[in-house]
Amino acid sequence: MKVGIMGGTFDPLHMGHMLAAEAARDTYSLDEVWFMPSHIPPHKHEAGVSSEDRLAMVQEAVQAHESFRTLDWEISRGGVSYTIQTVRKLQQEFPHLELYFIIGADMVQYLPKWEEIEELVQRLTFIGVGRPGTKLDLAVLPENIAEKIVLADMPQVDISSTMLRERAAEGKSIRYMVPEAVFNYVHRSGLYGVQPRSAD
Ligand code: ATP
Ligand code: MG
Repeated sequence: MKVGIMGGTFDPLHMGHMLAAEAARDTYSLDEVWFMPSHIPPHKHEAGVSSEDRLAMVQEAVQAHESFRTLDWEISRGGVSYTIQTVRKLQQEFPHLELYFIIGADMVQYLPKWEEIEELVQRLTFIGVGRPGTKLDLAVLPENIAEKIVLADMPQVDISSTMLRERAAEGKSIRYMVPEAVFNYVHRSGLYGVQPRSAD
């Protein structure tokens, strides 16, 4: 079985994430994409809303796709989330998985800094997607990493979770920038400074 891991903070999950996952699935005929919210990513401060809310938004949004699933291992493990630890555990549990890891162009340049990246590139293949504002340049990477990255085309969307948190806090609409389930969750729970309102 071919599985693509879509890792992220998802604070909140948005259409850029959904399109990246779908482009990777479609281009490489992945059987499933597993969305994996990190607990505390190594490169970031603690997220804006709770892990429970980030996980719940992902769960509610991805269930509409027959091939998308949620993997809650990093959030249940807690602490700083290192991909290598999760991947080792995944391959112990499911030895026959052919694993891919989907990442946006902004993350590609930081791959050499990832914990145990040499081991990670032996365990999986990265699927890189473009992202406005960053040139996806594999030439800057060491050979052993660059040769384990394949690319997928996706419609370019200039949406980030940072921009959505700011828009929500300013009272601007985030509708259609996030899956409908995320929009409803944010409004129902009053996340990111949005005034809570009944689901009706
Ligand atoms: P933040 O602004 O909080 O960093 P983000 O929008 O970058 O949020 P993350 O959860 O950090 O979202 O990203 C998870 C993964 O999705 C990363 O690999 C990132 O590169 C990718 N990604 C995020 N937004 C896009 C986008 N608009 N197009 C393509 N890839 C994206
Ligand atoms: Mg980011």
